[in-house]
Amino acid sequence: MNKALEMAGNMFIYENPCCDCKVTTNYTDDGVKYHSLQLKTIDGSHKYAYAPIDGLVMIDDKTGAIIDKYKVIEDFLNIDLTKADKVKEFINTYGFIMSLPADGKYRIFNHLDIGHLIKRFRVLVQLMTAIEEDNIDYNKVLKLTAYLLFAVPRKIVLNENDEGLCSCIHEFTHLWYNIDKLPDRTGYLVNSYTNDPYDDYYPIQDSFTKREEQLGFMDYHENVENIDSSASSPCIFKAKITKLYRDAFDENMDMSARYVIDYLYHLIKIGIQIDDVLENGNIHTHTKLSESIKFDNTFKIQLILIAKNTIKEEFDFELYGIHPTYNIDTMSPNWKIPNFFTALYFSLFYTRPDYEVYRKCANPNCGRLFKVKTTNSRKQYHDVACQNAAAQMRHRKSKNKKEQ
Ligand SMILES: [Zn+2]
Repeated sequence: MNKALEMAGNMFIYENPCCDCKVTTNYTDDGVKYHSLQLKTIDGSHKYAYAPIDGLVMIDDKTGAIIDKYKVIEDFLNIDLTKADKVKEFINTYGFIMSLPADGKYRIFNHLDIGHLIKRFRVLVQLMTAIEEDNIDYNKVLKLTAYLLFAVPRKIVLNENDEGLCSCIHEFTHLWYNIDKLPDRTGYLVNSYTNDPYDDYYPIQDSFTKREEQLGFMDYHENVENIDSSASSPCIFKAKITKLYRDAFDENMDMSARYVIDYLYHLIKIGIQIDDVLENGNIHTHTKLSESIKFDNTFKIQLILIAKNTIKEEFDFELYGIHPTYNIDTMSPNWKIPNFFTALYFSLFYTRPDYEVYRKCANPNCGRLFKVKTTNSRKQYHDVACQNAAAQMRHRKSKNKKEQ
């Protein structure tokens, strides 16, 4: 083991079998093109170590020295997921994200399924950065958090009995996609005996206002029951959130799901229109949070809390398969890590966002995510070339303005 690495102290090591990846292009019955990745393990393995400061590094099998040219996390974060060839390139360099049997047979995966799992990792990194920035962009925080909460859970498996790799299923996500199975809480209606249905209400223990709220009977029925399938998307979104607001109560339920429901309910109430949330996790909203005067500190603080909870749940889920094990070669602690994907999450887990974050390069033609010290809020470009390119762009713009 190389001296520097040894002195810094490894948090964990991981060995990933080398992998051969081929891309094949296929067509569905409807003629839609898609790419498959054919993968098999080959002789040899890539050795990784996680050390504070250096982060996740590839180490030379023989000398134990860090191989500097491989920036594992940065390369993983910057794969162009629209191109199957780029996913292939990463796998051929670093190995596959899940464990494959060493039987020399090719296994086939859909390029998009793998892409969705990688995208989630990227969104998590971006969210961790977004909540650490000096000037928090709350729209961005909402968008990234919503992605993790609303995207349909994804899974890749080797065969039916295999656990495979799975994206985190938040309790909120589960409720959102099983909304029809919720118990109906109509029976909780409080009758006011005034003969006016507008006075009847459902009592709601609201985690946002932290008191019991009264959801009006007519309010509920106009927003939820009388809605038909031809209603516009914002109405459907509002109906679903209002239904969850009334019905999603369960003794064993985690409070984090309730935080999300109550928050979105109140966000709509102050006039933030959420047009739609798609199964791919994209949230569409026309209203900018910062432009609403009602989006005050209470809303800001609660959004950050929800974002943090979401980050925690992602980690808790993805790191579940890890357990401690003692290394008798070095007589030191180590961790048994089930696959490379978990190892990547594990290294992110050790990253201190108050110390270093991954920022997006401000050159619009680049957009690469690069590591930067949190205290260095001025570094906006990933390298000098991008900084110069952006400076030139600014120069051209101001020149054009003067000539006009
Ligand atoms: Zn750049």
